[in-house]
Amino acid sequence: MKSFEIINGVLEQRISAVSVVEDAFAKISEKEELNGFITVLEERALAKAKDVDERISKGQKVGKLAGLPIAVKDNIAIADQRMTCASASLKDYVSPFDAHVIESLENEDAIIVGKTNLDEFAMGATGEYSHFGVAKNPLDSSYVAGGSSSGSAVSVAGDMVSVALGSETGGSIRLPASYCGLVGLKPTYGSVSRYGLTAFSSSLDQIGVLSKSVQENQLIFDVIKGQDKNDMTSKAYKNEASNKGIDELVIGLPKEYFDVLDKDLSVGILEFIEKMKDRGFKFKTVSIPSSKFAVPTYYVLTTAELSSNLSRFDGVRYSSRVDVDAGVMEMIMASRSEGFGQEVKRRIMLGTYVLSAGYYDAYYGKALQAKSNFEREFSEIFANECDILLAPVANSLPPKIGERCEDPVAMYNTDVFTCSANIAGIPALSIPIGRVSDELPFSQSIQLMGNKFSEELLFSVGKEIEKLNY
Ligand code: GLN
Repeated sequence: MKSFEIINGVLEQRISAVSVVEDAFAKISEKEELNGFITVLEERALAKAKDVDERISKGQKVGKLAGLPIAVKDNIAIADQRMTCASASLKDYVSPFDAHVIESLENEDAIIVGKTNLDEFAMGATGEYSHFGVAKNPLDSSYVAGGSSSGSAVSVAGDMVSVALGSETGGSIRLPASYCGLVGLKPTYGSVSRYGLTAFSSSLDQIGVLSKSVQENQLIFDVIKGQDKNDMTSKAYKNEASNKGIDELVIGLPKEYFDVLDKDLSVGILEFIEKMKDRGFKFKTVSIPSSKFAVPTYYVLTTAELSSNLSRFDGVRYSSRVDVDAGVMEMIMASRSEGFGQEVKRRIMLGTYVLSAGYYDAYYGKALQAKSNFEREFSEIFANECDILLAPVANSLPPKIGERCEDPVAMYNTDVFTCSANIAGIPALSIPIGRVSDELPFSQSIQLMGNKFSEELLFSVGKEIEKLNY
């Protein structure tokens, strides 16, 4: 059922929130082998649902998401619940507080059904780097769901919930959304509070939404956006989008993206662009020279920041401790060696290297300069050339499970089209545009990118795109 049907049904007492939540858990257990969830919160969710039903039956006020089941990526904190970040190091960690987004959702009476699987600490592109095993694509379970918000994509594409929260640092919502045929929003940096999101790369991390439709995505974004005193980078949300009609809008096609896109994949996108032209959209080829440095810039910035952010998982402040018969340093080394998976260790090593004395200026300092160039180039494009950009999301169809995880560089290149938006801090919305072939169940996606705080415009163009697709 779509989110709106659920909320209206619950409000009008045609269905009870309890039955909606029971249905969600029935689907979750029916599709357990997809491995979308790390923790299910059945008792807690049913208690909340009961409370919503009671308040409605007494004619009391309820929030605008009353009775809506939602899944949450397991790097977002819920008070008194386990938060593992899909890491062995946090497998027994219980969060003492709620993330800001959790408070916002629950204030509107959404019902959180569980914590979803992910690549360890959100580092990955296929969902295979999880201590809890890979989450499988509901469209064909021999394929990955995409990462790092793998379980959130599985929970929506597998019809267990209609909406889920994920997080993005370089593409982790848009990529699994595209592999699973969903809509995924990476919001403007600073538009959603990161309080309670386990930090990966603080200057890029954002919480966002996965859903089946643009309208449902917007519904959740409207609830979670806005300023929070606990996150100094969050801002009061002010819509900065132009309210031009379709025939006045100019959509930019960044040539650097299309130049490197696989021919087989570009066909579908180019055909879709023709459909959009028939609908009245205008296009223009533009150039974003920085985008060819996106992947290296992203991996220098993020490894540097994560190596610092993950230093708190030392067996003392956070994370499980491995007791050894030696000193404190040995205990820390043993705890981190056992607690972290291979990919996280690889990135910590790279990050400590790029931050080390003598290399800081050559790597992290340079990457910061590159980040400013990205921000400048994108804002100039939106000021002078076009209103939004349209680009591919993924550089391939979903790989089969096991196909890509032995090759970290191929994995890193998966972010080639997504991570520029994170580096520039701009919003990006990925939307499926139709099946690629009759043999495979996957659809292809495009992403719309806009100026900072232009989510409204992305949603309204996104809704037109949906109409052309279905
Ligand atoms: N695939 C990217 C990475 O591995 C993106 C991760 C993310 O957005 N959290 O870092």
